[in-house]
Amino acid sequence: MRIRGWLTGLIVFLLAPSLVFASLWFHNKFDKVNSIDNSLAGLHLIEALGPLLQEKALTGKISSTPDHLRERLEELGGSERSADLVLSLDTLLEERSIPLALRQAQILASKISQITRLSSASSFETAKLPQLITDTLPTVVIQSAIMANNAKNISTWGEINVWDKMVIPVQGGQYKIAADGASRDTMEYFHDLTGAQAELLKKQAGVFRKTNVAFQNAGSKMLSSTITAEKGGDVMTRPVVNMQPALVNATFALWQSTVDYLLMDLQRQRSETLFAVSLAGLVGGLVIVAAFAIAIALSRALADKTQQEFENLGFHDPLTGLPNRRALLNTIRNLPPAEPGLRTGAILIDLREFKKVNDRFGDHNGDSLLRQVAEQLNQHAEPDDFLCRTGGTEFLLFRPRLKKAAQFEQLAFTLLQEISTDRIIGNNRSAIEANAGIFISSPGDQISDHILTDAALALRAAKQKGPRKFGRFTPAMRTAFEESDQIAKELQNALKGGNIVAWFQPQVNIHTGEVVGAEALARWIDDDTIRYPGAFLPAAMEAGYMEDIEDAVRSHALNFAASLSGKTRSAMHLGLNVTASLLTSTKAVDVLHKQVIELGLKPAHINLEILEAVMIDEVTATPIRQNIARLSELGFFIELDDFGTGHSSISSLRDLNVDRVKIDRSFISGVDTDPALQKFTSALINLAKSLDISVLAEGVETAGERDWLKRHGCDVIQGFLISQAVPDAELATMILKQNFKPKVPALEGYGPLRGQA
Ligand code: C2E
Ligand code: CA
Repeated sequence: MRIRGWLTGLIVFLLAPSLVFASLWFHNKFDKVNSIDNSLAGLHLIEALGPLLQEKALTGKISSTPDHLRERLEELGGSERSADLVLSLDTLLEERSIPLALRQAQILASKISQITRLSSASSFETAKLPQLITDTLPTVVIQSAIMANNAKNISTWGEINVWDKMVIPVQGGQYKIAADGASRDTMEYFHDLTGAQAELLKKQAGVFRKTNVAFQNAGSKMLSSTITAEKGGDVMTRPVVNMQPALVNATFALWQSTVDYLLMDLQRQRSETLFAVSLAGLVGGLVIVAAFAIAIALSRALADKTQQEFENLGFHDPLTGLPNRRALLNTIRNLPPAEPGLRTGAILIDLREFKKVNDRFGDHNGDSLLRQVAEQLNQHAEPDDFLCRTGGTEFLLFRPRLKKAAQFEQLAFTLLQEISTDRIIGNNRSAIEANAGIFISSPGDQISDHILTDAALALRAAKQKGPRKFGRFTPAMRTAFEESDQIAKELQNALKGGNIVAWFQPQVNIHTGEVVGAEALARWIDDDTIRYPGAFLPAAMEAGYMEDIEDAVRSHALNFAASLSGKTRSAMHLGLNVTASLLTSTKAVDVLHKQVIELGLKPAHINLEILEAVMIDEVTATPIRQNIARLSELGFFIELDDFGTGHSSISSLRDLNVDRVKIDRSFISGVDTDPALQKFTSALINLAKSLDISVLAEGVETAGERDWLKRHGCDVIQGFLISQAVPDAELATMILKQNFKPKVPALEGYGPLRGQA
């Protein structure tokens, strides 16, 4: 609605100048109509004077005046000129002398013409006609009347002298000037006029000219007879007197035709103007209506488009242009009944640790990578498939009609391979990893929204297996998930109740058998049972409780270490397993450092066990390396956990200031009897030693393994041979006991301190 109002406003705004222009134009046109109306009223008044003039010219009297002539003149003259006009009329009516009365009529007509702006209202072609009507033709009548009047007078005179005789040519000359002027003017003015009315006018003008010639001939005869005349009776006045009414009539006929023509012209102009006004009004109206119609249509289109966009936003992912989860649900809910024998399949893909991509390369590159992945998946989608982005880094390829399950699983594999290929992100070459969860229905089964949860469960299981792994949904996955969900809920309570504690697995000097340290390992004390990390850490990771667990373990371990301070014969090293969160957050590093210092411990005695896999992860490398460097600078003891499984490079071992490597149990178990393993394990030890890095072997279970390790340069061992992880008090007893033992540089063979080696 707002958009519609806004758009209409804009169009009205654009229309406003046109409307102003149009209103000026209309104003002008209405003004013109008004002025034409005024001129028409004036011309009608002048026309009403015509018969009076004609009667006066012919008979010397005015028998009656047209109805309301006086009122009409008063009205026309208004307050300023009505008195003047009425006076002219009265003078005209009262004047006995024909020429003077005619002259008065001529003056009145001129005044009317002036007031009503007759000339300016006329068209270009007829602009001269008012002058004919009010001046030229009446002057001819006046001059002819004077001539006739003189002629009548002369005929009554007795003797006539030269001066009397001179009146005749002088007067005749005056007439000639007026009449010839009229002939010339009519010819000139009428020349360009066209149409039937113009033809009539030209004809009248012809008649007038002929009559004029005849009248002038009569005048010439009168003039010639004057030369020899001695008395008035000798002058040939009769032709002039006789001809004069004909001339008056011809002149008035022409006058009337001229008036008619002018009336017609004014009326034509009036109707043309009115037509233009109506047409303009109509067109303007249509334009306005059309503009509003367009505005409404446009706003509707815009509103529809916006609506469409909103709908698209509702069903489409704006980043990749793919449909979204809502659209998928919509599609699934509207599926036709399942066809017998046909399956339905879904591959749910999630990119691993994508947050790190964003952190390292920026959101912009992250977005472009998501678009690339969308495009890659699209390449493999069949026409019937429905590919959508179901979440931040999650894509789902839905196949409503699946024929071969094995092929569909193969597709999941191919997709993971393609996504994992090296690509250029920003200016760096890097790879992203993904997992896929597959759901395939039983043939003919009608599917519902549950396929999304089932595919997600399969994905979850695949993620736990590691990068590039995929798995097909089995009901056991749902059970595992439900258990995990249950664990997560219980874990929450365990954390609140302080039931997550650290137990400690001692680490001994391989040569002396002396406990030199211990690794803190999380334990869940659940009433009488002890729950081990393998049983709750995956659920904790999934539920986001890892940091809370580490906090609990760390506080417990550090407090325990502080409680032993100064009580042990030699300084104890405390091993803490750290996850990526500590390694990516500088704040977490500061908190740990503060905690250690406040407890009076030395960072050098705190071993931070960092998984080799974390260290070499390319994507996470930069921020993690920076934090490890910082921890090292602060004096912490950096230990590389599960060494051997992650293929760390020599340079990363050196660059990261690793203090000790913990050789993974898989390289220790049976090392004393397996020559192939011996080669590998001794290579690992030699690599560390060549870099001046000390070596701890974990998972040492037998004396044979221990002895082999001792011979091959291992420094410290940890494993069930010595002890399992034990509660703090037990470890304290173990350590404090050592205070009373003689310090032996190297024991030949030491057995288990505790547990079942
Ligand atoms: P890890 O860091 O490799 O810890 C050593 C694991 O090997 C421990 O299992 C320990 O009980 C077991 N182990 C030690 N010696 C032997 C042996 O001789 N034979 C056999 N079979 N096993 C041995 P646990 O305590 O179950 O811990 C498993 C994993 O849980 C740990 O592996 C560690 O990755 C993780 N974990 C435990 N506590 C924490 C913690 O506080 N924070 C983090 N991030 N991870 C923890
Ligand atoms: Ca460890």
